[in-house]
This record gives sequence, C-alpha cells and structure tokens, in this order.
Amino acid sequence: MTDAYTRFVRSTPGKLLAKQVGLPRPAPLPRRGDRPEPVLGPVVVLGESEGADQIARELLGWGADVRRRFEELRGVGTVIAVLDEITAPADLGRILLPLAGAMRSLAPGARVVTISRPARGEDPGQDAARGGVEGFLRSLAHEMRAGGTANGILAADGVGLTAPGVLGSLRFLLSARSAFVTGQLLRVSSTAGSTTEDRENPLAGRTALVTGAARGIGAAIARTLAADGARLVVLDVPGAGTELSRLANELRAVPIQLDVTAPDAGQRLVAALRDRDQRLDIAVLNAGITRDKMFANMTAERWDPVLAVNIASQISLTDALIEAGGAGETGAVLGDQPRVISLASTSGIAGNRGQTNYAASKAGVIAFVDALAARLESLGGTANAVAPGFIETEMTARMPALTREVARRLNSLQQGGLPVDVAETIAFLASAEAGGLRGETVRVCGQNMVGK
Ligand code: NAD
Repeated sequence: MTDAYTRFVRSTPGKLLAKQVGLPRPAPLPRRGDRPEPVLGPVVVLGESEGADQIARELLGWGADVRRRFEELRGVGTVIAVLDEITAPADLGRILLPLAGAMRSLAPGARVVTISRPARGEDPGQDAARGGVEGFLRSLAHEMRAGGTANGILAADGVGLTAPGVLGSLRFLLSARSAFVTGQLLRVSSTAGSTTEDRENPLAGRTALVTGAARGIGAAIARTLAADGARLVVLDVPGAGTELSRLANELRAVPIQLDVTAPDAGQRLVAALRDRDQRLDIAVLNAGITRDKMFANMTAERWDPVLAVNIASQISLTDALIEAGGAGETGAVLGDQPRVISLASTSGIAGNRGQTNYAASKAGVIAFVDALAARLESLGGTANAVAPGFIETEMTARMPALTREVARRLNSLQQGGLPVDVAETIAFLASAEAGGLRGETVRVCGQNMVGK
C-alpha cells in the first residue's frame, strides 16, 4: 500500500522534480516477506568490552559476516555499537566516531543498534555518558538514509548482554520486522524470558486474543500472530460480525462478538473462553476509537466513549481475566506466563491538537501497562504497550486530506506505517524472548517529529 505522493516521487518525472526542489523522497521499506534474512550483512560490531565480544560471537552464530572495524568496507548493512561499560562522556566518541565516516556508504535499509545501560542516579559522570547514548541515537535516527533505522537497547545493570530480552530485542531491531521502528530505545529490565528455538513459529502452542480484530491494525495483528504459529481468538462488536467471521474462517480462529464497553464484557469474555475451553497466553487490547474535537467544543458524547473503549475496557477485561485465575487454577482462562499488549498512541505521549480525549485515554494506557506488569509478575507474565504513529488504516483515511498528507511526512522515514508494522512489534512483545521487557511502551512511528 503506497500513497499517491510516494508513487509520484518514485516515477521518473516525479523523482527529477523532487530532487530539484528538495521534496521528501520516502524509501521503500522491505518487510519480512521482502527481506527474509534476519541480519543485513556485513555487520560491524563497535566497542571494546567483553559484552562487545559476546555480541560479535552471537552474530557469528547467527551466520552473519562480522567485522570489528570499518577499514575500507563499503555497503555495511548492520552496525552494533556496544557501550555497556562506558564510564564518562569521553568514551562515547571513541566508540561511536568510527561510524561517522561510514554513514554515507551504509547499505539501503541499514540498521544501527546501540547497546548500553540506563542511567541509575549513582555516578554523575557515568550517568552523563549513559544518558548521552540516548541523545546520540535519537539524532542519528533522524540522519539515517534510504530506509535505514537506528535504535537502542538499554539493558539494566545486572542483565548480561546474552540475556533473552537483549538478544531478542537485537534480533527484532535488525530484522525487517522493525521496518517502521526508528529512534527508539527498548529497555530490558530483567533476565526473564527464553530463547525461541522455532524461528518459523515462535508463537507455536500459544493462544492469543485480539480485540477490535475485524479490520485495520487488529486484523493485521491477528494475521501476524497466526503466521507466527499462534491460535487466535478474535473479538469485535456485533456490527462488525461479517468481517469478523471472514477473518475467523481465514485464520481458523474462534470469533467472539462483544462490545468491550458492555458492563458485563469481562464476565462474558471469560464465559465465552470457558465454553470453548480456551486458555489465553496473549491478550492484545487493540479495540479503539477516535472522536476528535477541539477541547473548547468537547462534549461528554465525544469524551466518554473514547475513554470507555480505549482505556476503561482494558482495565475491566484484564481484571476479569486475572480474577478468573492463573494457569493451573480451576476455571482459569490465563495460561502460563501471560502477555498483555495494549494499543497506546504517539498522541498519548506528545499530545495532539483536537485529541484531548484520545490522548487522555492513550496516556492512560501507557501508565496502565506499567501497573499491570507489576500485577502480572506473580503469574510470570508481562504487560507492555505499542504506540503507533501515523498508520495507513480506515481510521486515518477519515482525516482531512491535507492534515493526513502532512502527518504522513512528519517522521524520519517520511511515510505512513502499515498495520503490519504495529503487528510485528506486538508479535515480538508476545514472544518468549521478550520476557525481560515489562511496562514498556514501544513506539512504531518512523520517529514522529512530535514527542520523544
Ligand atoms: P479501526 O477503526 O480501523 O479499527 C478498530 C476496530 O476496533 C474496529 O474493528 C472496531 O469495530 C473495533 N471496536 C471499536 N469499538 C469497539 C468496542 N466497543 N468493542 C469491540 N470492538 C470495538 O482502527 P485502527 O486504526 O485499526 O486502530 C486500532 C488501534 O490502534 C486503536 O486502539 C487505535 O487507537 C490505535 N492507533 C491507531 C493509529 C493509526 O494511525 N491508525 C495510530 C495510533 C494508535
């Protein structure tokens, strides 16, 4: 799905015009079907620590062509800068500057990933260096060309660089699955999780619920989780019943017609799961609506439904699922190590004109997953959120044409993302490898110019 402007600037006359007048020229972003190899080679691993050696060995094990210096190398596909042992800002340049001379010759769609540790409020010099990585990384992402991305991994002190969460995040960020994720830092807070052996079906044996699955991002999430081997339970309002049954047939999924804002929605969901003898390992809380209006014209008719669908339903559904019991308990509907992934939005991070109601609901989601992660810890579970930026769906197709065109270009990749981009990040957060990520909100926004 390419928008009209992008099709024009990729045509011969459009390319010439765009070059002359300096118009944005969005690069094609290969997704998993277009670029199946997990790592784009050659790979250069920068850094002097034992962690850097471990990462280089790991990449060799993944079959990559790994080097420790750029030398005369051109067309480098992947650069990993390992900064886990930096102690002062002066360390940054020593490790990172060798990349400067190689920037112009990186391969199209190149990946740069920093691996560092978060500031911890103990050693001012060390924290300044650790904090500096974030500023570097977010700026570098704005400078990447030809569909390249730059992201970071923040491994908490005590989490080794071969922990499942670190290697799983690295694999995700280096793959085509993260095509629309750039300028972001994934925080790995623990060594929980495990390495996935079955790369083709990382979610084999898991059952996933997706709410709001009949169309748009929800349908893409259901298809992506199914492609990764999960069994699906797909839920949407009765009014979307036809689309829902079509999707359920396609994926051999269990359909549930339910309005998530109904007062007894949680109980009805639990009853429907028990009736069909389904245990959920993954719950993706995707159902969402917008009712945009400037706050001066805001009414309860526009405010209340947005809060009800986008956040209140997430609280009541997860309450009902948890209260029905965890794995092994009678009547339980949650499996072992459950994963909840909620849909937030960049509007919930940065705010957005005309979206006070929507932003309140989505900022609520971001705070909610953090608290929910703590609640799920005793079940070995996690909760995280994904914050999409501008994604091409029916929801965004309803925006005024000019606003939509501007929104599409206002990110480092100069294009809207696809529903599958959100779905891929969710599939990663649902995987066994992501057990060490909890309470995180991962942006899938091509590095929107608004917010962080
Ligand atoms: P969409 O309108 O295309 O689809 C939303 C789905 O949710 C629909 O199938 C709808 O029937 C269902 N739904 C709505 N109310 C429901 C209810 N009460 N009970 C059950 N199902 C209900 O929207 P989308 O663009 O696919 O968005 C999906 C999610 O992603 C939403 O949470 C949205 O806020 C979020 N999001 C989207 C974008 C974007 O650019 N499209 C950006 C940021 C966040």
